[in-house]
Amino acid sequence: MRKLKGFPASPGIGIGKANKIRDDFFSFFESKKIKSGKIVEEINRFYKSIQKTEEEILKIKETTEKIAGKEYSEIFSFYISILKDKNLLEEIEKIIRKENVSAETALKKFITNLNKNFFKSDFLKSREKEIFDIFEKIILNLSEKKKETKTLENIIIVANDLSPTQTVSLLEKKYVKGFITCVGTETSHTTIIAKALEIPAVVGVNNAMEKIKEDDTLLIDGYEGIIIINPTSSEIEKIKQKEKKIAQSKKKIYLLKNKEALTLDGKKVELYANIELPEEVDAVLKYGADGIGLFRTEYLYLKRKDLPSEEEQFYSYKKIIEKMNGKPITIRTIDVGGDKFISAFEGPVELNSFLGLRGIRFCLEKRDIFLTQLKAILRASYYGNLKVMFPMITTKEEVIETKKIIEIAKDKLRKGGEKFKENIEIGIMIETPSAVIISDELAKEVDFFSIGSNDLIQYTLAIDRVNEKLSYLYKPCHPSILKLIKLTIENAKKNNIKVGICGEMASIPEIACLLIGLGIDELSMAPVAIPLVKEKIIKNYYSKIKEITQKVLSFNSHEKIIDFLKKNLN
Ligand code: PEP
Ligand code: MG
Repeated sequence: MRKLKGFPASPGIGIGKANKIRDDFFSFFESKKIKSGKIVEEINRFYKSIQKTEEEILKIKETTEKIAGKEYSEIFSFYISILKDKNLLEEIEKIIRKENVSAETALKKFITNLNKNFFKSDFLKSREKEIFDIFEKIILNLSEKKKETKTLENIIIVANDLSPTQTVSLLEKKYVKGFITCVGTETSHTTIIAKALEIPAVVGVNNAMEKIKEDDTLLIDGYEGIIIINPTSSEIEKIKQKEKKIAQSKKKIYLLKNKEALTLDGKKVELYANIELPEEVDAVLKYGADGIGLFRTEYLYLKRKDLPSEEEQFYSYKKIIEKMNGKPITIRTIDVGGDKFISAFEGPVELNSFLGLRGIRFCLEKRDIFLTQLKAILRASYYGNLKVMFPMITTKEEVIETKKIIEIAKDKLRKGGEKFKENIEIGIMIETPSAVIISDELAKEVDFFSIGSNDLIQYTLAIDRVNEKLSYLYKPCHPSILKLIKLTIENAKKNNIKVGICGEMASIPEIACLLIGLGIDELSMAPVAIPLVKEKIIKNYYSKIKEITQKVLSFNSHEKIIDFLKKNLN
């Protein structure tokens, strides 16, 4: 089987050599004994490979820093710290000496024990994949047969799973031409990051690790979710033609950049961008967004072992404000839990992390972390059009408590003589069914709503958003979802507050029109999706969109609704 199919997670086409990130790398090595007389030689060989690995990592770090900036290269400092960890190296040396085994065997023994003892700390647990990666690199450097490092070739990452942190650290964009994972869906956070980085990605390809061999040439089509292993020259030619066509139509679409998203009968729709890192602001501007509707700030906390200070956060936010030059920006406070964990916080292991200490629950529990972030946001608000919003709200008490903490943050800033915007707008994400149902009451407490449909769908339809086996149930136009969205919009309007949507469904042009027909004020999406949604809006009449919306609200299935939208919208 040369063709594999998965979810089209991030659009684009890539060709490169497979670079497999194997969880089971170490099971490939048979234990090997060595003669007593060879021990010193073996230890020298071990330290030589450590040195070689360090040199390699330093090179990668340097390249990453050049291409992507210091933030992204920071992960490699962790690699270096492991390679310089004297205790760790001595432990491995001890195994070689005591057990008369090869360096590879000692490393394998050590990492197997690591699983039991070393990963007890949550910090190390969260870096498990990276630690395995370092050990893999050391072993490859021990091997005589090893080829030159592939880092600077065009590569396509193939892995069982990638954490959002790993995905971010793969940002040697110039060389990573795509990635493929066995697990994941359209709304898992790894996918969201791939889209933000504009790297073609196909996820949920459950047999990828089995079918793809290291160094296979891969062709990845992120538009259709297709992978071709060792493509023929005619297959490559065909895909290149497709890419050319897409590039031409993209060019046409980019011409819309400075055009407003106005329907044919003059209804203006605000199109905002979702971002995860300050560096994405360039893409926000490139694709002509009216502002930033969602800044997922937790990514500032994900790639490191310590917490970002108030000062550091303040400068990150201020940098975005300056680049956005007066355009509105909505900062969402840290939303960890679910499939995003921060190393600096050692929380209990949860059986159901999406139903656990997530979003606002985490913030209200870890008030010091929350207060630091709120102070940084408030200080930054002085410099531009900044709003703040809170994730995972399920009760009115959470909103009231959060507002109290904002007041505490303001008080502290006043006492310290810091400037901030007194009347900063406060919003909440409507992403749980309970928040929708009490949205009339919640609307009285805040200035705006932003519907987080990724989670609203997950929590309403009771399906894990990262489980590819359930993705067939993940239906944005399920009648229950549309009813919840409609109710949220009605309650927002009744209370005279604005309501936007920032889940992935807003980026599907037909569904975006449906949301407009339901009365949504703002749509926020991955920057790359903005031109396509805009193109759809400007080709249609608002009056017709409203008519179509009324009609589909009586339909009883997602499929029927999508079909009708496709047939009836221009
Ligand atoms: C959502 O849930 O729709 C949302 C935008 O937030 P996130 O995807 O970060 O959970
Ligand atoms: Mg969410």
